[in-house]
Amino acid sequence: MSQSLEKLKAVISLEKKKGCLDTAVIGGLDKFLANWAPEASAGIANRTQLSRFNQFIGAFNYAGSPAAARPAALDRLIEFAEELEAAAKVTVASKLSPESGEPDFTVAESAPKYRRKPVSAKKAATPPVSSLELPVTAFKGVSDATAAKLKKLGIENVRDLLYHFPARHVDYSHTARISSLSPGPDQTIVANVWEVRPTTPGGRRSTEAILGDETGNIRALWFNNPYLARQIKNGDRLVISGRVSAWKGMLVFESPEWEKLEEKELVHTGRLVPVYPLTAGLYPRALRKLMKEVVDGFAPALEDYLPADIKERRRLADLPQSVAQAHFPAHEPSYNAARMRLAFDELFFLQLGVLARKRAWQHSQPAASITADQALLTRFVDSLPFKLTGAQRRSLDEILADLKRTEAMSRLLQGEVGSGKTVVATAAILMAVNAGFQAAFMAPTEILAEQHFCSVTAMLDRLAVQKQQGEHSVSYFGIVSDRPLTVALLIGDAKESGKSAVRDLVRNGGIDLIIGTHALIQKSMKFKRLGMAVIDEQHRFGVEQRQSLRQKGSNPHILVMTATPIPRTLALTLYGDLDLSVIDELPPGRQIIKTRWLKPEQRGSAYAFIKKQLAMKQQAFIVCPLVEESEAVQARAATAQYENLKMEVFPEYRLGLLHGRLTAAEKDSVMGAFKDGKLDILVSTPVIEVGIDVPNATVMLIESADRFGLSQLHQFRGRVGRGSEQSYCMLLAENPSEIANARLGVIEKTQDGFILAEEDLKLRGPGEFFGTRQSGLPDLKMAKLSDVPILEMAREEATRLFAEDPKLQKPEHRALYKELIRIWPQTGEWS
Ligand code: ADP
Ligand code: MG
Repeated sequence: MSQSLEKLKAVISLEKKKGCLDTAVIGGLDKFLANWAPEASAGIANRTQLSRFNQFIGAFNYAGSPAAARPAALDRLIEFAEELEAAAKVTVASKLSPESGEPDFTVAESAPKYRRKPVSAKKAATPPVSSLELPVTAFKGVSDATAAKLKKLGIENVRDLLYHFPARHVDYSHTARISSLSPGPDQTIVANVWEVRPTTPGGRRSTEAILGDETGNIRALWFNNPYLARQIKNGDRLVISGRVSAWKGMLVFESPEWEKLEEKELVHTGRLVPVYPLTAGLYPRALRKLMKEVVDGFAPALEDYLPADIKERRRLADLPQSVAQAHFPAHEPSYNAARMRLAFDELFFLQLGVLARKRAWQHSQPAASITADQALLTRFVDSLPFKLTGAQRRSLDEILADLKRTEAMSRLLQGEVGSGKTVVATAAILMAVNAGFQAAFMAPTEILAEQHFCSVTAMLDRLAVQKQQGEHSVSYFGIVSDRPLTVALLIGDAKESGKSAVRDLVRNGGIDLIIGTHALIQKSMKFKRLGMAVIDEQHRFGVEQRQSLRQKGSNPHILVMTATPIPRTLALTLYGDLDLSVIDELPPGRQIIKTRWLKPEQRGSAYAFIKKQLAMKQQAFIVCPLVEESEAVQARAATAQYENLKMEVFPEYRLGLLHGRLTAAEKDSVMGAFKDGKLDILVSTPVIEVGIDVPNATVMLIESADRFGLSQLHQFRGRVGRGSEQSYCMLLAENPSEIANARLGVIEKTQDGFILAEEDLKLRGPGEFFGTRQSGLPDLKMAKLSDVPILEMAREEATRLFAEDPKLQKPEHRALYKELIRIWPQTGEWS
């Protein structure tokens, strides 16, 4: 009753606002009430009340009331409905009171003799869960061909349809008289068809109709649609919604949405009309009609799994209502309430998932407690050619405190490119190794793994009293007093015999620190006593990888490093199983990279600028456009661009090409040549993300910059400015959209990665923000990651629920648990 009362109230308040002219709902208030009554009366258990209700509604005649009496009639209607609702609450309360024992006199008076059993009745009406799995082909008009198209949108069954939300709504809810129509905005009329006929304007077979109401006539034209002439007949009453344009001085509806007034409820016109994401061959009208049928038929039966106390505390709407209103909202406020509820659910389940995971690994096995050797730590810090920044020091302290605990560390170390994360990680690794444990350092690409190997060994070298180079790139350092400290690099293209030798050494404890790519988490990799693992560039590694690393050895401490600045709430939500350290301070003296966004016609001057830098013995990067399809396509496009640059633009210079299709050895040789100054320009696909340190490179040109996120552009840009020379970044965009324009304007002015990330979130959806690589996360349809209040709400509620009932075993959480397992099937294994 309360939902339907809300609906009634909304209609009445609109009616009042519109001056009691019976224009709030199409078809009039009486008709609305006739449709509304059965739904509203479903909640009335008391027979006397039910008949009073039916009588009242039956006698209510709004259209027939004189204008002066209408406001009072509306008030009476509300009053009546509220009264009924209050009575219904008492009835429900009495149902909850015990059958035997002390009679409750306060409710005995109004407690009905005849009791409907809403609970069991509702159960019987609820179709079995499998009805949500009903395939789309079960619906009339959905052929196998249509089903195949729906599948492209990820839709296979009823549940998928219910959760296929509109991209937006068009507001056709304002009805006008024909005489008051004006060209421009979306408008809706209710009109009679005077005449309808096929026509051929400009040779296109179309349909034309003359429509009229008591204030005038107007023409409607449906281009390229001759079939309509057979569906619409003279004398029909139609609701027409769409844009009106002026054509040869006459107003005309151009290809408007239409439907017949006798339809039970308007779907395409006269309301907030959903606009669905489509795919080729799916028609908006057909999909909308299917949606209406599915939403009406199945949304009411959705089981609302969210515990009542959460809904109450957060004032969240019910699930069936929210799903229905998300598609076919009565008005904007109810859409907003629906979106809020659905967004909450998405973020809430995300939180429950990460919390369940965190609990699972924290409790699975105790971790080794690692105590830092302060003397060695001081020696290490003092051996560095620079002073640690405050932020580096603080992050290191947080990590060392974690290592000491017997609950495995799971920490995200976040810091801009060049903020000095590697040093911090190396210090922690040194402490772990010194305490007798093995450590693993994992990078997303071989190039980066090698680079880490070089910088880590260089740091240890400074500390060591002696160094020795062994076979298979194993280095021995005399750092720890009674034994050598061994470091090895394991990458894919080393000889198989060498790799297996290294693996054997790792297995029997002969190597203290192993650096490599995801090869480190393969099955064949066994550790003797893995105590700590570092994962660089988090966004490349999903949840599963973290999981499989954890399973190596006895629950190692894990440090994840990322240069993607993620706003704090977001980081805590998406990586809720990780604690967070932020290096929010760059080492002193870092330069600002001058960034310019160039117009397409400035391409020539961009090339000229690069040549000027090259003449000064500097080097340049050119980043090729992002091509979506595949790495192979990407490689081909980059190769073409490279050839063109080499032959046409920079014939007198030495160019190198880097793309994902090269073998690791080929990549290495190109990278090596660029690093050694044997190449002037490195042309690269964006997939490579040119994760390298070449201080002599001072200029970068990024093609089709409008296709990248700000954070990504910022990452690219961080590859220059690594030396002492002033560095530059030029952005080219052929045909940027308005949003892209705004974005490029921001990156020109801002060097702060966090601000850029926030802008990214505002300007682009979360999907784009994280790219498609983010595996293991359910996709967010309703939630925007910029919805910070909902995010926080979901996090608080998930944490509270977890503290109260960690395994969701309480009966009131059973439905929630079921849904959680559906969304995160692994949760079952964790608990
Ligand atoms: P990140 O991995 O965060 O991008 P790195 O750890 O690779 O950054 O550090 C970038 C460069 O800055 C390295 O050459 C490193 O030696 C240097 N560096 C690190 N910390 C400092 C510091 N506190 N002061 C000066 N230079 C530093
Ligand atoms: Mg780094």
